[in-house]
Amino acid sequence: MSGDYLVRATAHNGLVRAFAINATGVVAELKRRHHTIPVVTAAIGRLATGALLFGAMLKDSDHLVTVRLQGNGPAGTLLATANGIGGVRGLVANPQPDVEQVRDGKLDVSAAVGTAGHLTVTRDLGLGQPYIGTVEIVSGEVGDDLAHYLARSEQVPSAVGIGVFVNADGSVEAAGGYLVQLLPGVTDSEAARIENVIRDLPHPTTMLRAGESPEQILHRIFGPHHQILTQRDVRFHCPCSADRAERAIMMLGPDAVADMIEEGTHRGGADVICEFCKERYLIPLSSLRGLLATLRG
Ligand code: ZN
Repeated sequence: MSGDYLVRATAHNGLVRAFAINATGVVAELKRRHHTIPVVTAAIGRLATGALLFGAMLKDSDHLVTVRLQGNGPAGTLLATANGIGGVRGLVANPQPDVEQVRDGKLDVSAAVGTAGHLTVTRDLGLGQPYIGTVEIVSGEVGDDLAHYLARSEQVPSAVGIGVFVNADGSVEAAGGYLVQLLPGVTDSEAARIENVIRDLPHPTTMLRAGESPEQILHRIFGPHHQILTQRDVRFHCPCSADRAERAIMMLGPDAVADMIEEGTHRGGADVICEFCKERYLIPLSSLRGLLATLRG
């Protein structure tokens, strides 16, 4: 499905960076793979959308950004990883928690995520040592937490507006939003004007459900005074494979592999399920024996 894409733009002579995204198909795919209840679909969907917006700042296709929310809510840890070319995957510890999903007619995301805990952002720029920043969760609504992270940990005042609209039947009708960053040099009056416009914007899913594109969302914020730099498709993407599953098994050590061979004898092998996309790999006994022989040298 999907006309999912992200645009990157600049305004105010390069002093303002802006991104807008429609990630409806991505979030529908996350929901399909993880069987999330609506409030968790909204939570992981917002986080994955945020990861894609953060990923738009990566310079290289194999760079990765991972956003991890460890809140005290019943959904447990949520995590999303985006690469530098618009791919994202995600996981949630408890996709179907026992929680009151709706408050005041809206999905109560912070009830599932929790209102205390940590948000950690890891940028792997292929340099060996990833850059890691952590802040406390301030709202549990995800967007505010991502904005707080950018302002506090990276010292870039930022507005993050992201949302997921889930239909009564649990399907995803719309997901997406925007990220606006003020770089050093923006005057106070320019900053105040942008903040006012953003404060008065409709909710992101209101705009997306009305059929507005990412470009139109940016136009609402900046009028004609901005420049679109790039447009990029975004999609659910998990780089897992049978080879990677075998490497993961190797890391468990020889005793664990020997156990897997014993337990898997009657089934012809061992099942490995990727936590990110729920893909199932059957590693045949012959491969397991080969791995064991390698491990025992
Ligand atoms: Zn996978």
